[in-house]
Amino acid sequence: MSTENAATFDCPECDVSAPSTSVPYDSLGYVVCPVCGYAATPDAGEQPSAGRSPSASD
Ligand SMILES: [Zn+2]
Repeated sequence: MSTENAATFDCPECDVSAPSTSVPYDSLGYVVCPVCGYAATPDAGEQPSAGRSPSASD
């Protein structure tokens, strides 16, 4: 990419485009769509990618 534009966030949900510097980020540091609220997480779900969790679950 040889454009002068910096990283741009393209929402796959509502197809909106906005500069990554003007969009909000969630607590994990992922871009959140300012229009529909879609979070650009690499893995769907709210769980961390960690395989093991020492916390008691269920
Ligand atoms: Zn969106």
